[in-house]
Amino acid sequence: MEQLKLLTPGPLTTTHTVKETMILDRCTWDDDYKNLTQSIRQRLLEIAKVNAENYTTILQQGSGSFVVESVIQTAISSTDHVLIISNGAYGKRMIDMAYVAGKKITELNISFDVIPSLAKIQQVLEENPTITHIAFVHCETTTGILNPIESICTLAKKFNKKIIVDAMSSFGGVPIEVEKLQIDFLVSSANKCIQGVPGFGFVIAKKESLEKTKGNARSVSLDLYDQWIVMKDSGKWRFTSPTHVVAAFHQAILELENEGGVEARYERYLTNNQYIIQSMQQLGFKPYIDDEYQSPIITTFLYPDTNFEFDDFYQYMKKNNFVLYPGKLMDVPSFRVGNIGDLYRQDFEVMIQHIKNFNAQRSIK
Ligand SMILES: *Cc1c(COP(=O)(O)O)cnc(C)c1O
Repeated sequence: MEQLKLLTPGPLTTTHTVKETMILDRCTWDDDYKNLTQSIRQRLLEIAKVNAENYTTILQQGSGSFVVESVIQTAISSTDHVLIISNGAYGKRMIDMAYVAGKKITELNISFDVIPSLAKIQQVLEENPTITHIAFVHCETTTGILNPIESICTLAKKFNKKIIVDAMSSFGGVPIEVEKLQIDFLVSSANKCIQGVPGFGFVIAKKESLEKTKGNARSVSLDLYDQWIVMKDSGKWRFTSPTHVVAAFHQAILELENEGGVEARYERYLTNNQYIIQSMQQLGFKPYIDDEYQSPIITTFLYPDTNFEFDDFYQYMKKNNFVLYPGKLMDVPSFRVGNIGDLYRQDFEVMIQHIKNFNAQRSIK
């Protein structure tokens, strides 16, 4: 089987050396493994630009959604009230999780192609003084829009609200100064910009806020507070942990550091994303999100015309080793191109050449 290049933001294309670490079996209770966990937790704090006095990391089994759900379960008490801002499927998923968990919610749903207006958020806060938390998605992977994390956090703190951010597809690939922004809970996972394989996620949490969450969760396995209590000093996971995935993630963090850290990775993602968008526009594919809101992670493109068959395109590209990502918009036919993972300019040049060839073949038909 040939290694495909995944233009899908998680699972994504990982390096050979990340995959290689998974060849060994490891014990969960052994000191070497617990030290691996502690090393990951400490390095994540550095990536988040936080002080270990004030912040901590909790690793949690499952895909990214499990970890978002553990934060929704644990951070919000039965007397709290959360404002959830949504401009995509992942914002909507947080709303669903909060309802199922029985939390008190106010929804702010906006159109998928725009960022939330600060004036509107402020109005909702003024009309609902019982709101205690604001939750939102940083990069909405549904479309590729990048929500304005800094201004939303500044507003939230001005109103003295706790902040929950789903930074799943941006953390590690877009610089985020978690402590400067005073974020209380930030969630991401192993298989996005840090370029590991899927199997767990993590939370960067402000200790002062986390310490007050005992007993909030109506779930045992998704109780982030209990997970933290077991993990915090020893590096021990509650329940079986994905040992191979954890080892791969440790290697992926070392490779992020070797690349030059988050800033260098951001540069790579950004220049590749801009190259893709420019080249695709020349080939007749229009991006769905305006330039000023576009993230460097993933781009939604509209079908170029009504005769465009995505399935044919997908199969053609797959035959040439590239896996595209179907669109997630209800109103307009679209597809997505993710550019995170172990992919470089030359990979995208090859990808564009294949798309040119596909176009040429289409016009002959
Ligand atoms: C990937 C992702 C998630 C988590 O999705 P899983 O399929 O559960 O890993 C959550 N939010 C965002 C913004 C994402 O990109």
